[in-house]
Amino acid sequence: MRGTVQGVGFRPAVFRAAAACGASGTVRNGGSQVVIETDRPDELMAALMSDLPPLARIESVEREDVPYDGPSGFSIIHSDGSGTGASIPADSAVCDRCVREMFSPGRRHMYPFTTCTDCGPRYSLLRGIPYDRPLTSMDSFTICPECVREFSDPGDRRFHHQTICCPACGPSYRLLDAGGSPVEGDPIETLAHALDGGCLAVVKGWGGMHICCTLDRLPHLREWYRRGQKPFAVMVRDMDALRRYAEPTPEEEARLLSPDRPIVLVRKIPSEAMEAASPGLDNVGMFLPYTGMHHVLFDHLGADALVMTSANAPGEPMVIDDAEALALGVDYYLLHNQPIINRSDDSVVRMLGDRTQYIRRSRGAIPYHIPIGFRGDAVALGPQENMTGSVASKGRIWPTQHIGNGEGIGVPEFLEEAVRAQMRFVGCEPAIVAEDLHPGYANRRIARRIAEEHGAEIMDVQHHWAHAAALMAENGIDRCICLTLDGTGHGDDGTAWGGEVLDSSFEGYGRVAHLETIPLLGGEKALRDIRRLRFAIDTINGSENSDFTDSEAAILKKMMGGSVRTSSFGRFLDALSYSLGACSVRSYDGEPAMRLEPLLARGRHVDGISAENDGGTIRFISMFQRIGGCSPEDFAYTAVESVMEELVGAAAERAESEGIREVGLTGGVSYNAPIARMFVDMVKSRELVPVLHRQVPNGDGGVSVGQAAIALRKIQ
Ligand SMILES: [Zn+2]
Ligand SMILES: [Zn+2]
Repeated sequence: MRGTVQGVGFRPAVFRAAAACGASGTVRNGGSQVVIETDRPDELMAALMSDLPPLARIESVEREDVPYDGPSGFSIIHSDGSGTGASIPADSAVCDRCVREMFSPGRRHMYPFTTCTDCGPRYSLLRGIPYDRPLTSMDSFTICPECVREFSDPGDRRFHHQTICCPACGPSYRLLDAGGSPVEGDPIETLAHALDGGCLAVVKGWGGMHICCTLDRLPHLREWYRRGQKPFAVMVRDMDALRRYAEPTPEEEARLLSPDRPIVLVRKIPSEAMEAASPGLDNVGMFLPYTGMHHVLFDHLGADALVMTSANAPGEPMVIDDAEALALGVDYYLLHNQPIINRSDDSVVRMLGDRTQYIRRSRGAIPYHIPIGFRGDAVALGPQENMTGSVASKGRIWPTQHIGNGEGIGVPEFLEEAVRAQMRFVGCEPAIVAEDLHPGYANRRIARRIAEEHGAEIMDVQHHWAHAAALMAENGIDRCICLTLDGTGHGDDGTAWGGEVLDSSFEGYGRVAHLETIPLLGGEKALRDIRRLRFAIDTINGSENSDFTDSEAAILKKMMGGSVRTSSFGRFLDALSYSLGACSVRSYDGEPAMRLEPLLARGRHVDGISAENDGGTIRFISMFQRIGGCSPEDFAYTAVESVMEELVGAAAERAESEGIREVGLTGGVSYNAPIARMFVDMVKSRELVPVLHRQVPNGDGGVSVGQAAIALRKIQ
């Protein structure tokens, strides 16, 4: 049997099924699969299927009929060797039964490492497969006689639980003060009181560490962290507490409670605290406790919410080593003595109706794979921002966890480590290593290194084509007319792309339409100082612009001819956001567009503002002359609607002439809910099929999946 059948209590479930139907035989992990030998296959399968462990996913069952000649009785055989290609289990929030046990009298009363075969960390503590204790970071903890008894009892829910432990034999927390000295008393209880008293703390969890404080200390945290406007996520005690701060939809509630416990963007109830968490936005990222420590912490805490953010130095990967954590300079450190093997930041999702859109796919939702119809092995290193890598082998593409932005110290190293770990897990011997077309990206060195080691070919893949290919791979289609809308990507003509309609297959693509280009005055500077985008637009329109002094304006005017030009949809939104007073300067990636979203959500269509398709170039610049004639909300809505109308129109025309039904939407802009909804309505009204993401991140976190799919197609 193949699927997610390791680390999920699968072999114990087989054992119980065998006992229930009186079957003899054995069950063992065979690396990528579970192998059962039995004298009563039909009865055993029926019993097993009627009572599968909650985390198990069966993908395929192969059956071989040979006479059974083993002993009578049923047993679990210890794993033999290290197979590859297994579905490696993901971390899964502590289950209700374990939470109840933690808050009841008994051995595991208030024990923060309480887990069972249905729950607990998996991937984050895994060194290799098969998933057995010696290949996890639990290998250094010797299991006590009581735990041995539970582990060996087929009736116990910790029967063969690989990471079984208790206060007598398992890991433990300790609390250190600002100077790194141990603090007296119960570590979690003491910390809870300190947090209520207003301290900043680092807490070590499953796949990494968080910096946390109570909501009223948020201004202090922002100052200390030098994080001006960027949103912070908030962990709440429970769903009742969450509803005091936000209004989740039923789909969002289901997602908040799912075993992967992602951070979910939910509509906030306006308040000072929520405005401080995500300034200028309608939504805020919230999540529920998922480790035993979180539950114990909230039990002792007076506050019902904590700001929780990945502990790192700005731009660097999340800290997983105790020594590095102690250098962060907070008031208290809650650390434990179990090493973190695979760094996993919290996953972040946004729901579009019942559809999950991954902003960041990591803890709880990795590893995962996308089945693809191409054989062969390939590796893809992704783009520069929101990096992931992907490893392809045996008809599957395995993306890594979220890595970070390539300019950050230590980030390329983390990418290489994660890609190599994934290559080991799935046994990948790449024939092609794919990378972004952009000549300046940090991960190209890694691509070269891996290619040399394996005698593989290097393949450059255009950024937006890779986005489109990721969307196609995920949706199991091999051609699609795709709107790929994002901040920037290196175009094949040397300009910066980002507002593209591509007729895309895995073999190639054609540029059907794109936004008209605007010059980025001063290059990178125009990304932060978004007044420059409006200045360029006004200059093209021959309009007055009073944002700069005369001498500044003279310098900017001289730059008009020589600056790199971009067709980016993200820059169009930035200019709009600035012009409508939603954002004056970009202090974090995506901020102007995110702050524009509340306006988009409230606006209505007005007449007299429209973009136009000029032979495949979507002209929008002249619309800016009409700002002021209606409310900012209505202008935002109508300007974006008219540009989308032209892009979808161009895509639909190509789709119809080629006899294709699918029109796709991908790229970071597609996280914007009003834009995604407009797209779906516009495509459906043309009786075509809208194609969107559900598993692979819409943004640059999905690019490596597309690169891998394109590389595999080339190998064929
Ligand atoms: Zn459990
Ligand atoms: Zn024990």
